[in-house]
Amino acid sequence: MQFRDLKYQYQVLKEDIDAAMLKVASDCNFISGKQVKELEEELAEYVGVKHCISCANGTDALSLAMMAWGIKEGNAVFVPDFTFFSTGEIVSFAGATPVFVDVDLDTYNISIDSLEKKIKDTIEEGKLTPRAVIPVDLFGLPADYDNVRKIADKYNLLVLEDGAQGFGGRIGERRACSFGDISTTSFFPAKPLGCYGDGGAVFTDDDDMAALLRSICVHGKGTMKYDNVRIGLNSRLDTMQAAILAVKLRAFNDYEVADINKVAERYTELLSDVVKTPVIPDGFYSSWAQYTIQLDSRKERDGLQAELKKNDIPSMVYYPKPMHKQQAFDGLLFNDKDYVNTIQLCDTVLSLPMHPYLTAEDMDTIVEVIKQYKLRA
Ligand SMILES: *Cc1c(COP(=O)(O)O)cnc(C)c1O
Repeated sequence: MQFRDLKYQYQVLKEDIDAAMLKVASDCNFISGKQVKELEEELAEYVGVKHCISCANGTDALSLAMMAWGIKEGNAVFVPDFTFFSTGEIVSFAGATPVFVDVDLDTYNISIDSLEKKIKDTIEEGKLTPRAVIPVDLFGLPADYDNVRKIADKYNLLVLEDGAQGFGGRIGERRACSFGDISTTSFFPAKPLGCYGDGGAVFTDDDDMAALLRSICVHGKGTMKYDNVRIGLNSRLDTMQAAILAVKLRAFNDYEVADINKVAERYTELLSDVVKTPVIPDGFYSSWAQYTIQLDSRKERDGLQAELKKNDIPSMVYYPKPMHKQQAFDGLLFNDKDYVNTIQLCDTVLSLPMHPYLTAEDMDTIVEVIKQYKLRA
């Protein structure tokens, strides 16, 4: 059994993906081929924003936003404590200071109360200037952007949506990667929309910001590549990846997001009496980067993971460590009592095999192992 079955997906899409890859190989337009521009247009249309700027990976996408906004030393950027390392890393990489914020136990996303408290504390302390907040669409579920926006407006903060896991999600009719002043995603293979290597994208409705982001992506180019008007990066999406993504975006849009939602519904139906299952608030729609359950303790979680492994069922702990406890942030001072939810989640979460092609038989096998384990626990 696969955790995310990319091999099966390739078999389904093989004919089109092979043709797309061969076309790039025979045209030899490996960098900035026309497929890149075409994909950017399709992605912008899918998300419902004016501009999509593709780049080398989801981490660069976040860094591009930091650079475009001129976020620097002395600035505070608010980041959930329960996320992948990148979300905090890029703040320090820009020279600014990440201020970690606790998350909600039901949605796994940034807690609005903790956010406002951390902003107030930072202002009161007077050492850092609050500049931005980076809500993460964790496990495919968009963060609570209505309330994030209220807080951001109140304290004059920019909103950077980290949609690395959120692509394909929605709040009402509005799609993920449209909620930030700038929004980003990742096309790492295991993300909801993945390519065959590294890839990422930045989204914005702001024309000037889009032009600036395009310049920063390509060595701070001015009128052309050999006219350099600012310090930038070399961060581009390969033509090969764009060609593959164009095929995969069609499947994603046509049926994959709908199918993975059916898988989630079935998991929840079978498991909601057995363990704590994910909560999707009214009006929200997830793209299910992960299906993450909660057990009662670290011991029970680790025991279940071992039991699943014995039955050849892969599972993952996303994430085993709060951001504020990462050694890389040792220089910053945080108090565990501000992060009780994140600390609890790191001990109790377990992500189960999840992809649009997961069969009912495989799900039954997984659910049976969990049920038997809980009966004995
Ligand atoms: C994967 C991920 C990233 C980074 O994306 P890469 O393409 O791997 O650089 C950033 N934030 C979150 C929440 C992620 O899950």
